[in-house]
Amino acid sequence: MSLADTLVKLTRLFLPDFALKCTHDKIRPDVEQGYCPDCGKLVKNEWYITRCSCCGVKMKAMLKSGEVVPQEHFCSNCGGKDFAVEKVEKINFIDINFAALVKKEVQEERFCNTVKCWQERTSEQPKLLVQYL
Ligand SMILES: [Zn+2]
Ligand SMILES: [Zn+2]
Repeated sequence: MSLADTLVKLTRLFLPDFALKCTHDKIRPDVEQGYCPDCGKLVKNEWYITRCSCCGVKMKAMLKSGEVVPQEHFCSNCGGKDFAVEKVEKINFIDINFAALVKKEVQEERFCNTVKCWQERTSEQPKLLVQYL
């Protein structure tokens, strides 16, 4: 085992949250969702834009500590300070200039048909176990 491996193991042991935090960089922004090759989680791409709540003009959005906020502090159209965050269902090439991409982890029941999963799934129903075996 290399020193790097040992360090990773130790980090996981003592700082599990830190070590498991994955930014899912390999998920392409042009897909709706996909499995992250780094952590195996199902990740959904969600786009958000911000609008001035006073005049409704779009403001360029960005991510700041996990929150979607406008890049500018004030609306360039009316000088307003308040904004509303809007989810974009289908991103287009106009909105993409304004939108911030949020990579959301999807909690899913993993589809799996290995022997181990079957046994786990059927352990509460002993009668069914016979059928599957
Ligand atoms: Zn990941
Ligand atoms: Zn405005």
